[in-house]
Amino acid sequence: MKKPFIIAGPCSAESRRQVLDTCMALVGKVDMLRIGVWKPRSKPDSFEGVGARGLAWVAEAKQMTGLPAAVEVASPHHIESALKHGVDALWLGARTTVSPFAVQAIADALRGVDVKIMIKNPVNPDVDLWSGAVERFGAVGFESRNMILVHRGFSCYGRAKYRNAPMWNLAFEMRTRFPETAMLCDPSHMGGAREYVAEIAQTAADLRYDGLMIESHIHPSEAMSDASQQITPDELGLILSSLQWRDGRGNDPSFTRRLEDLRNEIDRIDTEIFALLSRRMDIAESIGHEKKSHDVAILQDKRWRSIVDNIGARAAALGLSSEFVRTILDAIHIESIERQNSAMNKVRSADND
Ligand code: PEP
Ligand code: MN
Repeated sequence: MKKPFIIAGPCSAESRRQVLDTCMALVGKVDMLRIGVWKPRSKPDSFEGVGARGLAWVAEAKQMTGLPAAVEVASPHHIESALKHGVDALWLGARTTVSPFAVQAIADALRGVDVKIMIKNPVNPDVDLWSGAVERFGAVGFESRNMILVHRGFSCYGRAKYRNAPMWNLAFEMRTRFPETAMLCDPSHMGGAREYVAEIAQTAADLRYDGLMIESHIHPSEAMSDASQQITPDELGLILSSLQWRDGRGNDPSFTRRLEDLRNEIDRIDTEIFALLSRRMDIAESIGHEKKSHDVAILQDKRWRSIVDNIGARAAALGLSSEFVRTILDAIHIESIERQNSAMNKVRSADND
């Protein structure tokens, strides 16, 4: 396989024109086309793809561009239709890799078939599930050279910078388990927004991935799925030409990976901290309403001292300095009193109306 191997194309086939215009504009930039016709979506009211009729457009795009093409499959029925239309590669989406029954049914349907299979990481950060999928294809006769791993990041609770957290370490563990299997990165689904595609692609290049899978649409803002993360073929060309695929000398991929993981972890934690603080202040406000209706003063010295003592002791056990804990608690206290105060004032002005 050529390195870096670049796969690009629309998230979804929407019309014959959109597929052909996009794919023709990708010629000279990519090694393979990706075109989703069946779209596994979290919500049933989202666009779920044009289905099998899109396969005729895929076949036409292949013919017009001279490029091989891949589609996503999630059932033996999809495989049968896709193979009839001469697709060169199939991919398992994150929502399929997560299901051992579905993966087994697909592997069984592909026994003895000469096609490339790309296996995206499962939605959740579980290396055994991802690795189990590879083993199921291995067991029906797929050799390493016919399998490709696609790292698209993992869904995590709470909002973070990227739509799906990279967790580079998990992908690295897969590389250790399957050293002969190529690994691509999908910056589109990882970042979830077009402004992140270039930076994630460069990280993947620094980490010596074998290539990229990127969503590209001739009119991204009009796309019927994943509009915010698709880029035009021209933008893709610019990104690809600015990427530096290093040879590994002079930079330490495990350092970059660790740093990236740690930063993502910090982003997630910060998001959670502020979500919790916001909930805490909402509760303080409700207490303000209650105190007002029972004519109780806002500042309850005893209660506050007991919070400081309790949290102070617990924080010390967690290795946080008492100055730091006191600074944070004071800031929380001030904001909390302000919220209670304004809640009381609101009640007062309502009373006066
Ligand atoms: C896709 O590639 O269009 C797709 C649905 O991706 P994922 O399975 O990574 O969400
Ligand atoms: Mn998509």
